[in-house]
Amino acid sequence: MTVPTVKLNSGHEIPQLGFGVFLVPADEAEKAVSEALEVGYRHIDTAAIYRNEEGVGAAIAKSGIARDELFITTKLWNDRQAGEEPHDAIRESLDKLGLDRVDLYLTHWPTPEKDTYSNAWQKLIEIRDQGLATSIGVSNHLPEHLDRIVQDTGVVPAVDQIELHPAYQQAEVSAWGEKHGMKIESWGPLGQGKYPLFENPAVAAAAEAHAKSPAQVVLRWHLQRGVIVFPKSVRKERMAENLDVFDFELTADEMQGITAIDPGDGSGRVGSHPLEFN
Ligand code: NAD
Repeated sequence: MTVPTVKLNSGHEIPQLGFGVFLVPADEAEKAVSEALEVGYRHIDTAAIYRNEEGVGAAIAKSGIARDELFITTKLWNDRQAGEEPHDAIRESLDKLGLDRVDLYLTHWPTPEKDTYSNAWQKLIEIRDQGLATSIGVSNHLPEHLDRIVQDTGVVPAVDQIELHPAYQQAEVSAWGEKHGMKIESWGPLGQGKYPLFENPAVAAAAEAHAKSPAQVVLRWHLQRGVIVFPKSVRKERMAENLDVFDFELTADEMQGITAIDPGDGSGRVGSHPLEFN
């Protein structure tokens, strides 16, 4: 199974499809990540706040897979953005992961009320320059936050990881990325199971036409748009299903039908809003 890669503005390549571990409990993370690696995933998305970095690290260590074949992302939690805190936070994450560097380190949320996200970005640049993160990016940043950090530092994030699925597309963030050479990562690519995506007629019809599952169709929609995804499942058969999306292609009409699912008024959002999450 060869997963295509996307080239980041750092010059490094990221596997376009990975495995996310949000809400995977600490004591289950090692097993879930071990199974994901067995199934063929090489890109793992975790975060300090998921409290499962140790389990991820244990699975990596036991896998025997060469470090340069893996792509590991973790994230700086919101209460550690100020002052020099990000430097301590990355070292703690690396320690838990058992790594000397991550492939991608992200500021998790802008938390605008605290007004520390630009400082956090400055510290991530230093962390990258020290070699502790090969590439750096942000998560849940809106264009106004992106404009600010670039204005303050001159450095464009490699990615912005945002809630993105057919019912909530945040086109303005993608347009910003397109203009500035920043890639988009989707969190909640399947709508976290909270939005009725799989029953949607456009998804269901494409699934039937290609003899694929609705989840595979939604993942394929992301991939054909150039978005980076890392769906989560603790069930091994679903891990395999979510990886098995490279042997079919949605037609332009099917793509358009799925894109039209977004109600356009923000009501498809299933997670927190970046302006309200502090
Ligand atoms: P997701 O859209 O990947 O949905 C996961 C849920 O979908 C699973 O719990 C399961 O119930 C269901 N599912 C998975 N595969 C399926 C299949 N083949 N068929 C049917 N149902 C299936 O949501 P997510 O886990 O929130 O997002 C993916 C990853 O994004 C996370 O694990 C995490 O790494 C990241 N994330 C980041 C943020 C952020 O703020 N940066 C927020 C949430 C998630």
